[in-house]
Amino acid sequence: MNTLVQDPALASLASGTAAAPAITPDDVPHMVLLGLIGSGIQQSLTPSMQMQEGREHGLRVHYQLIDLDRFGGSPADLPTLLFAAKAMGFAGLNITYPCKQAVIPHLDELSDEAQAMGAVNTVVIRDGRLIGHNTDGSGWARGFTRALPQADLARVALLGAGGAGAAIAHAVLRLGAGELRLVDADPARAAALADELNTRYGAGKAVAHPSAASALPGATGLIHATPTGMAKLPGLPLDAALLRPDLWVSEVVYFPLETELLRTARALGCPISDGGGMAVGQALGAFELFTGRPADAARVEAHFRGLVMARMAAQA
Ligand code: NAD
Repeated sequence: MNTLVQDPALASLASGTAAAPAITPDDVPHMVLLGLIGSGIQQSLTPSMQMQEGREHGLRVHYQLIDLDRFGGSPADLPTLLFAAKAMGFAGLNITYPCKQAVIPHLDELSDEAQAMGAVNTVVIRDGRLIGHNTDGSGWARGFTRALPQADLARVALLGAGGAGAAIAHAVLRLGAGELRLVDADPARAAALADELNTRYGAGKAVAHPSAASALPGATGLIHATPTGMAKLPGLPLDAALLRPDLWVSEVVYFPLETELLRTARALGCPISDGGGMAVGQALGAFELFTGRPADAARVEAHFRGLVMARMAAQA
């Protein structure tokens, strides 16, 4: 048995139980090469989301994991990898840890959003040019506004000022948040992000707070962007007594989709939005940039949730 055949549809083709559709020269213009450059990416759900949505659009998407760990690579290899992708006709690349900042000097152009965030998660390759985008923040906004369209953005507390938190901080201020209260276990990180946001969006828009206990009273909503609650790091990132039924809660952790924070907030009656919204939102944005076609949000979300559930079941 060919151990490379893992997709059930492909496996049935390989075993002769299904007829393979003929590939003709007419298929070639519909082939799209995409990839993800990063470290520790073998479990990424992005390839499946991009290939499945491509298939729905009649595209033959091949999505290649370019895992730095697999060849002892580092961000210093980015010029070679980007040149190779260009030479091989890739339509684009997703970029993740530890390359989101390091990739910037090697690009020909940056979108406004990527420039504001100082980070790139999507590179579109067009006519030999490399154009950097960031769909993390807009992806969060897409999922959040879909889940909680009526959310009051007057005073928003954001727990976690790392990569995801910084992208969301820009996005929530672009959505019109009145005041953003930043909390991080590393207070210097929260202070630095507040300074950067105030320079870009206006003095006083962002305020660094020493703790969740200081940021939550009077807040209209809470965005959680620390790793606490992940399957490998279970627990609550803050004292449950700080939650109130009139506080909306937006979670970024998506494995599991129902974190302890969301379970606690749901039980109190808080409006909630889970981490799937951001994961799907960033993929929708990238798909649209790569292909120029509108992605079907409900379809991609259903696919994503199925993948997470299957992985949870496999690990149970
Ligand atoms: P990161 O390491 O860059 O940042 C995490 C930040 O949280 C750090 O600054 C850390 O000091 C802070 N922190 C940790 N525990 C804290 C606590 N109890 N209180 C306050 N601050 C605390 O990580 P990241 O890349 O920003 O990812 C954070 C989480 O978001 C991860 O679980 C990741 O899987 C998830 N994530 C989800 C999506 C999505 O699409 N839904 C996208 C990116 C990241």
